[in-house]
Amino acid sequence: MIRLILLLIIAVCGATLPAQVAVFHDNPATAARTVDPFLIAQTAAMRPDRIADLIREPWDRYTMRVQLDPSGPRLSGEVTVQFTNRSEVDFDTIWFHLYPNHPDFGGRLDVTSAQLDGIPVPSRTLHGDTLIGLLTPHAIAPGQRATITMTFTARAPRNASQRIFGAYNMEAGVWSIASFYPLLARYIPGMGWDTRPIVARGDFTVSAMALYDVTVEAPADWRLVASGSRITYQANDSGNQLARFVSGPQREFYLAALQGLAQASAEVDGTRVVSYFRPDDPAAGERSLAIATTALRVFNQRFGVYPYAELEVIQAALTQFYGMEYPGVVLIEQSLYQRDDRVLETTIAHEISHQWWYGLVGNDAQGEAWLDEGLASYSQILYYEMIGVPEQAQAELDAFRTVYRRLRERGGDAPLATPPAGLDNGRYVPVVYAKGALFFHALRQRIGEEAFNAFLQGYVAAAGYREIAGPDLLRAAEQACECELDDLFHNWVITATEVTIP
Ligand SMILES: [Zn+2]
Repeated sequence: MIRLILLLIIAVCGATLPAQVAVFHDNPATAARTVDPFLIAQTAAMRPDRIADLIREPWDRYTMRVQLDPSGPRLSGEVTVQFTNRSEVDFDTIWFHLYPNHPDFGGRLDVTSAQLDGIPVPSRTLHGDTLIGLLTPHAIAPGQRATITMTFTARAPRNASQRIFGAYNMEAGVWSIASFYPLLARYIPGMGWDTRPIVARGDFTVSAMALYDVTVEAPADWRLVASGSRITYQANDSGNQLARFVSGPQREFYLAALQGLAQASAEVDGTRVVSYFRPDDPAAGERSLAIATTALRVFNQRFGVYPYAELEVIQAALTQFYGMEYPGVVLIEQSLYQRDDRVLETTIAHEISHQWWYGLVGNDAQGEAWLDEGLASYSQILYYEMIGVPEQAQAELDAFRTVYRRLRERGGDAPLATPPAGLDNGRYVPVVYAKGALFFHALRQRIGEEAFNAFLQGYVAAAGYREIAGPDLLRAAEQACECELDDLFHNWVITATEVTIP
């Protein structure tokens, strides 16, 4: 996400299946009977050379069927989650996030029925119905699989982006339907279920990688855009469409329904990039596509290749922030398309870099937000360096220095590891984004260009599809430089030592 406050300051400153997926079992004699149709469908979401990523882990699987009623706007659906208890303890409650019940979403998500392995189960909710716990009739042991089916209804606000989180909202031709379904909470070894109340500072969603197979029914005059790739489409006589999407391994499933937007598309390194924009300024729309394709190309080179078949950019009414990242989809505030400075470019680059920092390399956005936001902010600088606009890279860096210096002048410095909940008094953006970006600049200066590049590539290669914490980043950097960085980490991340601003 990019919040308004920081960018205001910046603006002033200037399918072939590999055998293992098709078969998925060792014994060729039984291959015909052991083909996994769920997994085969998923291959459409991946670049052909990354299909094997689908079997890196036995990810949980969501199968959903959703009916959209834009006149509400409201929706209803059924979700089946096949999950495995990967912890060391028995589960007697299984927790799901119900994000639309948070006041910042301004909507409602109600679970109308719940079953575990076909048996109806009771439930209880927590923190203003933002979490639902399904009480299991029998303990689910470590390693045991279970299938949960829930039916749900949801509604969303209209024209709410001036007041609340615009990504769950219908406005300006975009029904953005983020986090609309019961999303399995994470179980953290040694801590238990992640049932913390949501902190409305920064990104809301923290969830584990999973595979999604989602069929959406909606009026045919709405364009559906979602995480992953659409694999089937049917229009029926009653004016409805039925579209099926598969995601590949993703941290959540994003869905939007668009009306009246134009589109332009291009291909980058085997990924189809589509930009959706308001038709009144097609030049700005084409520009958004050009920026997105450039960003994807340079980040592919610098970080390692984006493994999915599609990436979408949507011009949306976010109003209170400039951009928001979801798996395979980024939202960009509509007013940026009319500006003659570089804020549209910076925002698109930032949000697309989140496909690596948040998407591939996951972290606890509600606990260590700097891990993804700091590196996404520093990616703005890398982007401008790589496209040969060093003066803008310098301007971005100077903006972060200014924000961080002002924070220190008012005595607001805090360790990067401070959870967003502890960053009150306007300190969230200066610490997480500005100081976070400067940490990566300090790291780069310390270990040198070659090791810094090795760090970026090695970090994605080792931590891709996983969730990491601060010490994992330290380890990845130390491996890249073959040096000790404990002092750097201690001064910037663990404590608020008065560091030299790089
Ligand atoms: Zn961000």
